Amino acid sequence: MSNPVTDWHSHCDDDGILWLTLDLQDADTNVLSVSVLEQLDSLIDQVNSNLPKAVIFRSGKAKGFIAGADVKEFLDLNSTQEALIMIKRGQTLFARIAALSCPTVALIEGFCMGGGTELALACDYRVALDDASTRIGLPEVKLGIHPAYGGLVRATAIINPLKSLEMMLSGRSLTARAARAIGLVDAAQPERQIERAARGMALSRPAKQKMPLLGQVLSLPGVRNLLAGFMKRQVAKKAPRQHYPAPYAILDVWASYYGNSKRMLEEEANSVARLIQGDKVRSLVRVFFLQTRLKGLGDKKSFTPRHVHVIGAGTMGGDIAAWCALRGFNVTLQDREAKYLSNAFKRAHQLYAKRLKTTPERNAALDRLIPDVGGDGVSRADVVIEAIFEDVEAKHAIYKDVEPRMKPGAVLATNTSSIPLETLATALQEPDRLVGIHFFNPVAMMPLVEIVKTASSSEQTIQHAIAFTQHIGKLPLPVKSSPGFLVNRILMPYLVEAFTLYDEGVAPEAIDKAATDFGMPMGPVELADTVGLDICRSVAQNLSAAYGIEVPAGLNKFVDSKKLGKKSGRGFYEYKKGRPVKDKDVDMGDQKVIQNRLVFRFLNEAAACLDEEIVDDKDLLDAGVIFGTGFAPFRGGPMNHSLREGVETIVAMMADYESRFGERFHPAAGWKGLSE
Ligand code: NAD
Repeated sequence: MSNPVTDWHSHCDDDGILWLTLDLQDADTNVLSVSVLEQLDSLIDQVNSNLPKAVIFRSGKAKGFIAGADVKEFLDLNSTQEALIMIKRGQTLFARIAALSCPTVALIEGFCMGGGTELALACDYRVALDDASTRIGLPEVKLGIHPAYGGLVRATAIINPLKSLEMMLSGRSLTARAARAIGLVDAAQPERQIERAARGMALSRPAKQKMPLLGQVLSLPGVRNLLAGFMKRQVAKKAPRQHYPAPYAILDVWASYYGNSKRMLEEEANSVARLIQGDKVRSLVRVFFLQTRLKGLGDKKSFTPRHVHVIGAGTMGGDIAAWCALRGFNVTLQDREAKYLSNAFKRAHQLYAKRLKTTPERNAALDRLIPDVGGDGVSRADVVIEAIFEDVEAKHAIYKDVEPRMKPGAVLATNTSSIPLETLATALQEPDRLVGIHFFNPVAMMPLVEIVKTASSSEQTIQHAIAFTQHIGKLPLPVKSSPGFLVNRILMPYLVEAFTLYDEGVAPEAIDKAATDFGMPMGPVELADTVGLDICRSVAQNLSAAYGIEVPAGLNKFVDSKKLGKKSGRGFYEYKKGRPVKDKDVDMGDQKVIQNRLVFRFLNEAAACLDEEIVDDKDLLDAGVIFGTGFAPFRGGPMNHSLREGVETIVAMMADYESRFGERFHPAAGWKGLSE
């Protein structure tokens, strides 16, 4: 390996410490590509031939240590053998670093993920910057794999397996202090001391991290198998093995080979080489890139709002306001009377208690959220979000009141789900400043926000709405103004098909199982119960005129008798302690047909949206559907799934279903473009 070393900089200081700084050329973020590893390999040759007192690895980027492996390179691996060769090279390099006869330290500032954490684990010591930006983790499961460069072996060798395995199984990343608490790093230090701390460790060689006693006990052979079995059952509740094999593979490698590092390393490599092949990892990598694309839309710097004014403190407005204050904005929250604000503040308290660790942080967020019945915040706001009842007259009255008081250039946004923005804009002097910023319920949980543009929305308004969405940490999806926008429109036929199946006598359990077996995070019946059957009916009614959707009788019956789902304790299911009571012994019917009926409605509506250019391209459609509905991520979105299954096959089956179940299965025009 004699690659020119262009991405690493080496410098030996007066103490004889060699600083190896990774600073990828032409990239904002450090990743461990094959080339970067090859360069490091030749640097380690040099280290071995001229041994310094110590080696310290650090990043030359302003933010972030190493983001992980270069996931693009996964897509080029065409066989298990190729994957194995790449993994073994990485393993060998990291083993060489671990075997260096001088001390090695990883100085971690900002994010340190996947391969970055594995490199850090191969060092003798790890020092992390104790600030808000530092996050350390092994999130490979999110891409359908697990650590492969020795990370699984090294993490479980020094950290209590309850903690190390939990971190790998969930893909969760830790702050510097949390990483210190579990022994993943040796020290968490503030900016002004971090270099000194790293240097101190390099020169004084303190004792290395060792597995705590409890961890040693939990790693004993008999206990290990019990613990792995227990953890598998926990994982199975969220991620079935047939769709998400990676977490099970982590537990299998650990339970079977812990204690024999050499063998465990081999199996770690074999396991990932097997996982990396096949469609699941490709789809999950695709989801990762789709997310990156949404995160990169617009220009965050082009608009730096500080003050948000929200009108309507109900389910949506209250939570939108609380979220914006959580993300650091000053927020004024307006409703008709003070009494309508109290619930929103109660929920904000709960959100901050959950999301913020310290009392000062929680108090600061609450201080940023200001009750404002008089609407005084309008004149200071950079963004005004209207989230009052779904009523045209009432919304028009608000706009007439608000528009003359708004700052020039401030964005006026509506959260409406169903009123055409064109209708709403008629009340404005400057209709070009109106845009839809459509959040989903529950606001804190749902990553996606639809940015709804009309023919009259100005480009600047849309760009500012996108930038604002980036500032509040949500994923913006620009969509054309049309009934249901993208997400509700695609979701509704699928939900209505579930209600139709119910009306035909199929048990809710059978309907939900067919959907979760496909990979949906929750079945459509339980989803409808969770959203609220009254809300589902009103969305279905709103879409019925545009798309000829009929509201099934069963749904009407539930709503009319006030069985509204989870919130009223009874909907399609009965709810005990917030959980649906499901009958395990019901007739599951013909699961394949039930699944096809649900999925075809979903896919067909997605194809129709593509044809009508509701979003700009099929990748954005897949992104919107995955982040807006949770559509089986390992299938990479409805369009990706359809292309993989074969559009012709799907269309032919749909035509068959049309003859058996009705015109609603008639293949949409959008399929034609897709099969070309
Ligand atoms: P909601 O009924 O929970 O809250 C509406 C709030 O607006 C109430 O607190 C009400 O007092 C207040 N309000 C009404 N008229 C007002 C006025 N003139 N001035 C100030 N406040 C006024 O409604 P919601 O579910 O939060 O929906 C709000 C908007 O968000 C609607 O446009 C809806 O289509 C949209 N939306 C709802 C959901 C959802 O799941 N609920 C999801 C996405 C979008």
